Parts: sequence; structure tokens; C-alpha cells
Amino acid sequence: MLSYRHSFHAGNHADVLKHTVESLILTALMEKEKPFLYLDTHAGAGRYLLSGEHAERTGEYLEGIGRIWQQPDVPELLKPYLSAVRNLNPHGTLKYYPGSPLIARFLLREEDKMELTELHSSDYPLLRTEFSKDSRARVARGDGYQQLKAKLPPLSRRGLILIDPPYEMKSDYQDVVKGIQEGHKRFATGVFALWYPVVMRQQIKHMVKDLQATNIRNILQIELAVRPDSDQRGMTASGMIVINPPWKLKAQMEELLPWLHQKLVPAGTGHFSVTQIVPE
Ligand code: SAM
Repeated sequence: MLSYRHSFHAGNHADVLKHTVESLILTALMEKEKPFLYLDTHAGAGRYLLSGEHAERTGEYLEGIGRIWQQPDVPELLKPYLSAVRNLNPHGTLKYYPGSPLIARFLLREEDKMELTELHSSDYPLLRTEFSKDSRARVARGDGYQQLKAKLPPLSRRGLILIDPPYEMKSDYQDVVKGIQEGHKRFATGVFALWYPVVMRQQIKHMVKDLQATNIRNILQIELAVRPDSDQRGMTASGMIVINPPWKLKAQMEELLPWLHQKLVPAGTGHFSVTQIVPE
């Protein structure tokens, strides 16, 4: 049974990192005229009400998007992401948070396509309704990992594949690697972006080792920690692993992370890093 609901966590520091990276990749893909596919294997509900019971219970967004969206010195590179947030909140109060499919919907062009998959019986109908009038999008209820076989390569031969599972099951740490291998076999030039939480550092070390053992080239790892690694319960950091990153992404994140870390973690704990873990 699926118990994870992203509505408890929407807009937290991990979403800020994930959606910043997503928006920079999409912006880079749009530098060329040729259309592309955005494939979101674990799309969630799309839109999250921050004054809703779930978000209010954890208050995580207050230490995430709440800390950055109205800063006076927002770096230029964050503007595509924050414009998507503002688009849902035109009156200056943070009411809704856009999930990954809504960030893409805001940024993509008429000719680009979206394939969105969600398995949860409550979140899927919300996502489908959200996109019912968008002819660029196809929304499916199903297993996200299957889409890496079924939907690749795209006709356009260009695209971003976002893989963002809940890691509710330990097998997710292996399934993401298998899924990426399947996807990469079919679409070796695609940009694959995998989100991960740091709950137990050892799990991430294993996952990275498994990825390195696939022989896939050109892998970048981006991480932002709000606390040092710990054996206690809870997420101390999160990261994005990007295969075939746009050439500017490393420098862009090196520029952004000090600002993001300073605003998201006023206490100064934790760390941030951008590392090419497999060369081109
Ligand atoms: N990508 C979304 C965003 O950034 O706004 C958040 C996604 S959330 C972290 C993970 C989602 O995956 C949940 O909504 C969950 O219901 C869904 N899910 C869990 N297992 C799945 C599977 N095998 N295939 C597709 N979706 C799944």
C-alpha cells in the first residue's frame, strides 16, 4: 500500500533543491528551438495547498520555499523556478506550491510534451484534473519505473526524465538504478534527473556505487544538507543526480548553492556540494 503523500512535504528544502535543478535543466533545453519531452515518473498531485491540513501539520514549507520566495536579493538563476511559484500565488501570500509537473507546465513551450505518471489513488485524480485542459500533457495512473521502458526514446529525441520516488520501500534505492539503466539503454542522450533523500548515508553511498557500476557516463551529483549526517530518524539532506547535465548546470549550482544554503539554513549547519561523479 502507498502511504507517502507529498502534500506533507511540499515546498520543503528538498523541493527547493529539486525544483531549482529541474527549472535550470528545462531552461537549458529551451535554448534550442527543437521541442522535447518532459517525463515525470513520480509526478505527485501537481498542486499543494500550503494552508491545508497536511502541510500545516509539518510546517516544512516554512523552512523551505517560505524562506526564499520573497528575498530581495534573489539570484537571477532562481527566477524561472520562483516565477512558477509566483504564478500560483499572484497576491503575495504563499497559498499553493507547484510540484514538479506544474513547474514544467509553467516553463514549457506550446510544442513541448509532458508525460506524467502517478500511482496513488488520491493524487492521480488531482493531477489528471490539473492537466485536463493542457493538450501538451498525458497523465497516466501507473508505475513510474515502467514508463522508462514504455515512453523512451521520445519522438523528439530530446528530453528531461525526472525520477522522484518516495523511497518508502528500501527497494527504491535499487529500482531507481535499474530504471535508469533501462531508460538510458533506450535514450542514451536524454537528461535523467534523480532525486534522493539522505536518511542513512550508507544507502546513498550504495546507490551511487551501483550507478557508477552501470558504465553510464557524465553524471553530476548535487547535494544540500541542512544538518550533518546522523543515525537518528529523519532526512538531513537531499540531492539530485543528473546524467547528461546541460553543460552550464555545474557552474550554475556552484553559484546558487551558497545563497540557497545561507537562506535555507540560517544556523549554518549541514553542507552543500556539486561533484562530477562520473566524467563524460
Ligand atoms: N515529483 C513530485 C514533485 O516534485 O512535485 C513529487 C513526487 S513524490 C516525492 C513521490 C510520488 O510518487 C508520490 O506522489 C507517490 O504517490 C508516487 N508513487 C509511489 N510509487 C510510485 C510508482 N511506483 N509509480 C508512480 N508513482 C509512484
